[in-house]
Amino acid sequence: MKKTIKDYDLGGKKVIIRCDFNVPVQNGIIKDESRIKASLKTIRYALKNNAKIILMSHLGRIKTEEDKQKYTLKPIAESLSKHLRKKIIFIDETHGPKLEKAIKNMKEKDIILIENTRFEDLNGKKESNNDKNLGQYWASLGDIFINDAFGTIHRSHASNLGIASNIPSGLGFLVESEIKKLTKLTKNPKKPYTIILGGSKVSDKIGVINNLITQADYILIGGGMAFTFLKAAGFGIGSSLCEKEKIPFCKEMLDKYSDKIILPIDVITATEIKENVQTNERFLGEIAEEEIGLDIGPKTVEVFKQYLDDCKTIFWNGPLGYFEIKAFSNGTKKIFDIIVQTKAYTVVGGGDTARAAVTFNYQDKVSHVSTGGGAALAYLEEKELPALSIINEK
Ligand code: AMP
Repeated sequence: MKKTIKDYDLGGKKVIIRCDFNVPVQNGIIKDESRIKASLKTIRYALKNNAKIILMSHLGRIKTEEDKQKYTLKPIAESLSKHLRKKIIFIDETHGPKLEKAIKNMKEKDIILIENTRFEDLNGKKESNNDKNLGQYWASLGDIFINDAFGTIHRSHASNLGIASNIPSGLGFLVESEIKKLTKLTKNPKKPYTIILGGSKVSDKIGVINNLITQADYILIGGGMAFTFLKAAGFGIGSSLCEKEKIPFCKEMLDKYSDKIILPIDVITATEIKENVQTNERFLGEIAEEEIGLDIGPKTVEVFKQYLDDCKTIFWNGPLGYFEIKAFSNGTKKIFDIIVQTKAYTVVGGGDTARAAVTFNYQDKVSHVSTGGGAALAYLEEKELPALSIINEK
């Protein structure tokens, strides 16, 4: 068993909490605060136990100097301050004398938020490549490291693996809870167990398909990734998304698991991806060359329903259509409607699927919405998760 924040005496200690504040921000406005809210339990616990709290997180990808303005953590500091009703000391740098001085002057219950850890990526990708010196430097700023960033638990970064390699470590409540909830899907899930996969790419889901196909009774496939499977099955897919190099994998899966993999039988198409575009309902074999398949059709929803109604466990990753545009959101919405009516243990994982759950207001009606996309898939694939493995055992 891994140590958690509860296994440490936090009083007067400098506690570094690696959070996942990777939230959608547009022009300085946070579009979805779910991940910030999910981090509050751990922060409040550290406050109650008189820690000196140092918060770290990444946000977006930093490739140029201009990205820094777009992805500063300043709006996160304001949001945290509002939720915790407390001043957050925001330090607009990731290393240096200003940060060190602020930490030196901390009193119990003070909270410092350090600027976006990925600012260090401009400097030879030090954060994302887990630069040894950077991990050591950040670790030197604290006494205890708590990893509460589930979204990056499958990554080897300086701000998770790097710090945890140097000082005593434990898990935060969010990571602990995510693992508990996802474990129900890997350790003897209640049957029937159906997995729904969507999103744009087959390549992101190969591991999870390979690993879960033996445990699950059915895998329902929609979204952009369904078209590579449909092409592999011999259907014309017009101008829909297709990963040509993945066709052999899809063929192999369809041959081996014809009774488990369920593909769409009809789709909604259009010639352009935009609002108010003319749409068509097409059965397989009817898709014209210039048409793009952008949602599952109503008959597919009926078919998928049959595989979901009596399920005891459901895991869903990836929207079933281009749900950001209303005309292609129906399939995703209808499947939410169906799964919330079942008695199954329902877990929705992945950034986009979680976003769809929030957009259509289903987030409180499923058993669990995971805060991690790639992380949840990696956990279900039973891959080694470096930033979890490194955490001290009890
Ligand atoms: P992913 O990041 O691979 O999970 O993909 C999520 C994205 O896939 C969402 O932004 C959806 O809009 C998009 N998507 C879903 N269905 C389709 C489709 N049929 N064609 C193109 N994109 C799609």
